[in-house]
Amino acid sequence: MSPRLASLAAAVLTALTAALALHFASAPTALPATAPPEVFSAGRAREHLARIAARPHPVGSQAHREVREYLVDTVRGLGVTPEVQATAAIHPDMEENSIPGATVHNVLAHVKGQDSRGVIAIVAHYDSVPTSPGASDDGAGVAAMLETLRALRTGPPLRNDVLFLFTDAEETGLVGARAFAFHHPLAEQVSVVLNFEARGSHGPSLMFQPGPGNRWLIQHLARSGAPAQASSLFDEVYRRLQNDTDFTVFLQRGKTGLNFGFLDGFMRYHARTDDLAHFGLDSLQHHGEVMLALARHLGDDALEPAPPEDAVYFNAGPFLVHHAASWAAPIALLALLAVVVALVMGLRRGRLRASGLTWGAGAVLAAAVAGAAAVQA
Ligand SMILES: [Zn+2]
Repeated sequence: MSPRLASLAAAVLTALTAALALHFASAPTALPATAPPEVFSAGRAREHLARIAARPHPVGSQAHREVREYLVDTVRGLGVTPEVQATAAIHPDMEENSIPGATVHNVLAHVKGQDSRGVIAIVAHYDSVPTSPGASDDGAGVAAMLETLRALRTGPPLRNDVLFLFTDAEETGLVGARAFAFHHPLAEQVSVVLNFEARGSHGPSLMFQPGPGNRWLIQHLARSGAPAQASSLFDEVYRRLQNDTDFTVFLQRGKTGLNFGFLDGFMRYHARTDDLAHFGLDSLQHHGEVMLALARHLGDDALEPAPPEDAVYFNAGPFLVHHAASWAAPIALLALLAVVVALVMGLRRGRLRASGLTWGAGAVLAAAVAGAAAVQA
């Protein structure tokens, strides 16, 4: 192959790979309300979202009370007896000047299993900030939970308990989650926490934060059939940001689990425009498909104690590739060795030149700088 042809082939292959990666990195298309009853439909969940995100509903407001009443009524309508955990609580561990506190009303829908080995807790918060209707944050998570609960009820009971926990007062400092995790008797039995959040208005729902000892959970995520978008790189980035969700509280309580969120359109976060009109319904579908698949999969799992091992994971097309974190260093060494061998052989045979290598390295650096500059602009 001539060098020119080889360059062309490399360019085409790169473009094709990028296009495929973008295709597989998007959220699934929202299903209409007429979708079969056993599947998750964003079209059906949207009806809930329209009620939840009609206007801002911060803790203590009339709108907040109405959202809670809607949750209680809907859960009861689905044949599950709701519980409201009403208690005054504070969250003393927040790294702020003041200690957040509130009288919280967590709404619980506890679906009992046939031979339960533990509780799968699905969590989203139903309060919003005062400045936003909260369609994405966290109306989408709440609406997805109601539609998931409905879809689960169409099938036979699962083995384990599934707890739908609609937390209160997340925006005032994770107070509702704190009240549940540290003061509700059911918290003791929680084996896995699946938290659903948003920091934008559309885009794929990413699994951006797993709990400790996550290898078995990542294996379940891969096997569940959920259209998971996940990368251990997200977790590394998230750890360096000063952000918290209800999931933080469960980690403090010694629990493990998975944290999901979408973040495209981040300028609408906590803004007046985080409303139904600007909301991407595909994100709701993605939240829901992942939620339902994991509820069914973990709901029938033996929940046996797994070794406390972490995973490295990433998407490759439609697959979630994962391996033990302890393999990372040997794999990296092998890759480095392969590069060194290729360089030495290439230089010896005259196929590579120092000047060409320098240009190549410079191009990689320039691409990184140009990318950062474009994002800033
Ligand atoms: Zn939130």
